[in-house]
Amino acid sequence: MQNAPLPHISLWQAEFSDPAVEQAFRADVQPRMAWQLRTALWVWAALVLLFALPDFLVMGGSTTFWTLTAYRGATAVVLLAAAFALRARPHLAPPGRLAMGLELAGFPFFFLYLLLRPELRATTLGMIMVVNLSLFVFVPGRVALGAWVAAGGIAGTVATLLFMGSGGENLPGLVMLLSLPAVVGFISANRLQRAQRQEFVVRTRLQQTNAALQEEIARSAELQAELRRQATTDPLTGLPNRREFDRCFARDAARADRDASPLCVAVFDLDHFKAVNDQYGHGAGDEVLRRVAQIARDCFRSVDSLGRIGGEEFAVLLPGAMAHDAAVVAQRFVDRLANTPIEHGGFTIHVTATVGVAERKPGESALDTMLHRADAALYEGKHAGRNRVEMAPPA
Ligand code: GH3
Ligand code: MG
Ligand code: MG
Repeated sequence: MQNAPLPHISLWQAEFSDPAVEQAFRADVQPRMAWQLRTALWVWAALVLLFALPDFLVMGGSTTFWTLTAYRGATAVVLLAAAFALRARPHLAPPGRLAMGLELAGFPFFFLYLLLRPELRATTLGMIMVVNLSLFVFVPGRVALGAWVAAGGIAGTVATLLFMGSGGENLPGLVMLLSLPAVVGFISANRLQRAQRQEFVVRTRLQQTNAALQEEIARSAELQAELRRQATTDPLTGLPNRREFDRCFARDAARADRDASPLCVAVFDLDHFKAVNDQYGHGAGDEVLRRVAQIARDCFRSVDSLGRIGGEEFAVLLPGAMAHDAAVVAQRFVDRLANTPIEHGGFTIHVTATVGVAERKPGESALDTMLHRADAALYEGKHAGRNRVEMAPPA
């Protein structure tokens, strides 16, 4: 996308050859352009009215003065009306037709001036030259239209001079003189318009690239989160897997050392689970494991970390709990499980678990040694008849 060539900009019009791109550009500049045009119309109206003052100083309250003043007033009204119209319809600004129409309508004022005040001919021609230059600033973004208006203004000026009987051999020189500011204006505006459109393309592409990049970043973050979830979670029960459980232990052990607080681990193993698989099928066994995980989640506190550490073996870390407290909570789980029949495939399956609880020795940093003690207690529990909690002997 970044390496695509810039859309073509025509030499004479300084506009995108592709109408869709030009349309997008105009939509982009519309608010600014409408504001600029409105400001220009206000300034124009103010200038038109302001110049009545020098007229009055020269002409006093003569008929010529009042004719010109009436024309000035009418022009100002039209300009201000256009400025107000643009407020509600900013889309009128970018095509340039409104500005072009006003400019064409503005020229006759100067022709009138030439006719009514021939002694000011040089000044009026100078004004027309200034206007020819300002057209390219004024017709926003449309240099070709500006050129047509300037040509119309020059033609009107020449026609007025011919009508007045003045012209002759001076005329070609005059036409060239009147054209010069228009040519300068055209070339400058052409460059500016070209640059603005190039900037528009570069900026839009940058925005698109940025948006694509943001999307890519979000996607990759999502993927990373998913990979992390897969790496740390047991897919059957959604509980942390053994590796993640190790991390939980390291975290809880560090906190226990810092706070000099106790930490217990309870390991539980389903009783005669092989029989569940044999009797109801592996699918039922899986469902039982899921339900057991859910029951365990409900029984232990939110600060306790549950994990599936083997086939049908689970473990839970109980920070802040001494062996006796941990055994109480574990017993609650054992009772709850024993009293919760699991419905699956039309069968009602009863499962129980045996739990071994071990308390962490101060400074003990290996989970394995703790699990070993808890396992030993668990097997004692199995031998003692299952469906019970057994505590490892105190350290
Ligand atoms: P005990 O009371 O002595 O623990 O008897 P048990 O039958 O539960 O013990 P054993 O370790 O002999 O059997 C565990 C069984 O758990 C064997 C295995 O097929 C089953 N098992 C392990 N992981 C899964 C699993 O993900 N899904 C299912 N459905 N069964 C599993
Ligand atoms: Mg078992
Ligand atoms: Mg087992």
